[in-house]
Amino acid sequence: MEKRDYYEVLGVSKDASQDDIKRAYRKLAVQFHPDRNKNPGATDKFKEVSEAYAVLSDDEKRRMYDQFGHAGIDGRYTTEDIFSGVDFDSIFRDFGFGGGSGGFGGFESIFDVFFGNRRARTRGPRVQRGDDLQIELEITLKEAASGIERQIDVPRRERCPVCEGTGAEPGTSVNTCPKCKGNGRLQISRTQGYSQFVQIVPCDRCNGEGKIIEKPCHNCRGSGVVRSTRKINVTIPKGVETGSVLRLRGEGEVSTSGGGPSGDLYVVLNVLPHEIFQRDGTTLYLEQPISFFQAALGAKVKIPTLDGAAELKIPAGTQTHTLFRLKGKGMPSLNGGRGDELVRVIIKTPENLTRSQKKLLQDVAKELGE
Ligand SMILES: [Zn+2]
Ligand SMILES: [Zn+2]
Repeated sequence: MEKRDYYEVLGVSKDASQDDIKRAYRKLAVQFHPDRNKNPGATDKFKEVSEAYAVLSDDEKRRMYDQFGHAGIDGRYTTEDIFSGVDFDSIFRDFGFGGGSGGFGGFESIFDVFFGNRRARTRGPRVQRGDDLQIELEITLKEAASGIERQIDVPRRERCPVCEGTGAEPGTSVNTCPKCKGNGRLQISRTQGYSQFVQIVPCDRCNGEGKIIEKPCHNCRGSGVVRSTRKINVTIPKGVETGSVLRLRGEGEVSTSGGGPSGDLYVVLNVLPHEIFQRDGTTLYLEQPISFFQAALGAKVKIPTLDGAAELKIPAGTQTHTLFRLKGKGMPSLNGGRGDELVRVIIKTPENLTRSQKKLLQDVAKELGE
């Protein structure tokens, strides 16, 4: 099922304050709390609103979500991570749900509601997804501003090309394990007194694979998987920041059992500091030295921007540390649009004056009554 937008789930606007979000969540949580609402679907609904709250109530997670949507959250955090930072106790205590560690509102029982399904799933068939991979990628500020295509080397496990993942030498056969009949698991019954215990264990004959290879593939020694380094093209959109995560579905490790889907590849970006620009979101800051005379008399000064030099008009009588705004010369935003560049002028006082220069300045000072 496609995940719904978190803001929509809580019924709040994108710029909702933390108070708005908390209020909206409390209302919905009370409505769908499984202690009170016994309708089918209430628990799922409760989970949905709780997840939305867990993400939007955390500034960092909310920022990731605003930038990258669900991929930014699912890519960075496990389900446990998403919920572990939330103080559900304090939210439910006021509503008489017991609170504390024993009541339903307690983190542990909330945890059960959320992870009960997941635990059950891991007990299912032995088809496992490949592992996710994470790779860090450094890019320059300029690259973050323009967006780039990069080729990266990803060391990962892949399906053996010789046996195509079967683990059997081409031309030889793969047989169903006679001991477990291809099931991969064995049921062991044990009687103790009047009780009978049934235990499910992986088949020892085929190592739980359900099949027996006549002759292992020479390339992968029967594992069906080889290590290799794959070149992958990554398209980095303009406006990314340090910590931005790109998710490449299916580019992680290949599944090593049961032919499940491959994992995903997460590319975590690190935007390197720039020599002269400081970045704050979509705003770029720059310090520009100007001379005392330019400040006093006014001047047109060439200012570096990401797009090359721009001209800034400094009015006569400008004080040091005055901020000037170059509209639309900042960083692009992931959602389109572009921030501004803010230029702080720093006035440099003239040094090492000659005698005649000093005299001229003294005359000016005298005229100004200093
Ligand atoms: Zn092979
Ligand atoms: Zn077997």
